[in-house]
Amino acid sequence: MGATTIVTRFAPSPTGYLHLGHAHSAIYAWRMAREAGGRFLLRIEDIDPGRCRAEFTDAILEDLAWLGLDWDGEVRVQSQHLPAYRRTLDALAARGLLYPCFCTRADIAREIAASASAPHGPDGPLYPGTCRRLTPDDRAARIARGEAHALRLDMAAALATLDAPLTFVEHGRRLTCDPAQFGDAVLARKDVPASYHLCVTHDDALQGVTLVTRGEDLLPATHLHRLLQHLMGWPEPAYAHHPLLTDGSGRRLAKRDRAATLRDLRTAGRSPAEVRALAGWSDPA
Ligand code: GLU
Repeated sequence: MGATTIVTRFAPSPTGYLHLGHAHSAIYAWRMAREAGGRFLLRIEDIDPGRCRAEFTDAILEDLAWLGLDWDGEVRVQSQHLPAYRRTLDALAARGLLYPCFCTRADIAREIAASASAPHGPDGPLYPGTCRRLTPDDRAARIARGEAHALRLDMAAALATLDAPLTFVEHGRRLTCDPAQFGDAVLARKDVPASYHLCVTHDDALQGVTLVTRGEDLLPATHLHRLLQHLMGWPEPAYAHHPLLTDGSGRRLAKRDRAATLRDLRTAGRSPAEVRALAGWSDPA
């Protein structure tokens, strides 16, 4: 296997059954790898214990195999690697790039309502920075009292490490990153040990993913991912975001559209080839 071998991945979160939109995305990544003689990896992003269920993980593997996809190597299951994400958080914290945030959602909403401007980022209103302004003594005292806290990236400190603006390659075009649009992003939640942004960049680096393919709803997240890659010295993958699959009326397919789950289509007697076609990938005649 040469150094330039393409490695793609499909990284679903087991919060429900796979639908046609997932099938579209999985086949996209699989084809990119297979057509280039590369590797296609499968990763289960089940870091959020409140939303993810093991039965959906089993169903994902079964549905993808039924659809005709095969993957290389072992399936990586994120919930089995919490210490690795913890080590990344510790490394960022040791460089002063993270701070604990004790705010509740209500605290943040109150603070935002009271402020003159409330800028929004891709993940919602930007955090107003309340806990960034705590003194080291306050922080230490609240942690010693066992107060629950999230960990936030100190965006200004992170941006200060850059000599030049970051960029990323999207479908072969180099674009300039604007990570500041995320503000002080949460990298570990009170109830979830590490955030999507942290785990996805950690694992893409660890698994040697060279081409990240996913729905275009995640394009904005790439700006933050490139910053995390820079901070951690991880390699820069290329990106290819694809349009989201829509139904006949142009509506985006979502998990709530039960009729579009692969399970239901299979139970209704559709063949894998028919479902691949419904997912936008007709087999060559
Ligand atoms: N786990 C994410 C999701 O299910 C996808 C992550 C990615 O492809 O970067 O939406």
